[in-house]
Amino acid sequence: MASLLRGAPVAQVLTEELARRVEMLSRHGVVPTLAIVRVGERPDDLSYERAALKRAEKVGVAVQCCALPASSSQEDVIAVIEDINANKKVHGCLVFRPLPASIDEDAVAAALYPAKDVDGMTAGSLFGVFAGRRVGYPPCTAEAALELIERSHIELAGANVCVIGRSLVIGKPVSLMLQARHATVTMCHTRTRDLPTRCREADIIVVAAGVPRLLDGSCVRAGQTVIDVGINWDEAAGKLVGDVAFEEVEPVVANITPVPGGIGAVTTSILMKHVVDAAERAAHE
Ligand code: NAD
Repeated sequence: MASLLRGAPVAQVLTEELARRVEMLSRHGVVPTLAIVRVGERPDDLSYERAALKRAEKVGVAVQCCALPASSSQEDVIAVIEDINANKKVHGCLVFRPLPASIDEDAVAAALYPAKDVDGMTAGSLFGVFAGRRVGYPPCTAEAALELIERSHIELAGANVCVIGRSLVIGKPVSLMLQARHATVTMCHTRTRDLPTRCREADIIVVAAGVPRLLDGSCVRAGQTVIDVGINWDEAAGKLVGDVAFEEVEPVVANITPVPGGIGAVTTSILMKHVVDAAERAAHE
């Protein structure tokens, strides 16, 4: 039976650490502030917004919600972003994606200052991840996966890690961040040949494909750590599931994240960490 790597205790420790940093900032009259830009009312966005507001309250981060109608134009959204750029009291900005199809996401991302880009959407943030420089911030989910591994005291230096998925939001940044921590990374995707063998060779598997039951019993062996980033709605079961066939994998491996209750539970804390980092950076400018 595997140890469950739950997100809640990690989120709790992060929240306590951040609350102390917010207290220090408040002595200098600084309230770390996040702007959330939401276009339309997608249920996923609304649910993440609620979770972010709850976490922000616990940490002491102020939040300004900029909710725009789904019919908004690209110019409307960029005007909001430009206001956020110009507002010294706002330290970080989260733009919910995907934006409506009529809006060019790249143009919106290009409008945001990387220094306020707390969820890794700008080219500057992605360059920062690529080059290991402090430009912007990595996508929160990617950093949440790293945080959960490290806070669970799982050794990354020299470890063989198999990352399934190569998106800009998770797979690619996770792979680069793992390499920066001295892991040896194999990236797998839809064209990978013999995925089960690639997975069994790894000490740690990070799966972020959005395919329920992709990682099944044939992909794992004893002693491994499995990080399930996937969030999928299982229509038949009427519940959220990850990318792992949990009942096949959990009895074999050493450590595994549950879904829900794993990476997802850490993501909003990482968002708050980026806002507090951004407020501290601004205070030192
Ligand atoms: P995406 O669709 O952009 O990318 C999926 C990647 O998986 C692609 O690179 C693709 O090559 C790979 N892939 C797909 N099917 C595959 C297969 N059969 N074999 C091997 N590789 C395959 O998705 P994304 O935005 O990276 O999200 C991935 C998952 O993570 C989704 O389930 C999403 O809901 C979830 N997610 C979780 C959080 C969180 O906080 N836990 C946040 C964002 C996204």
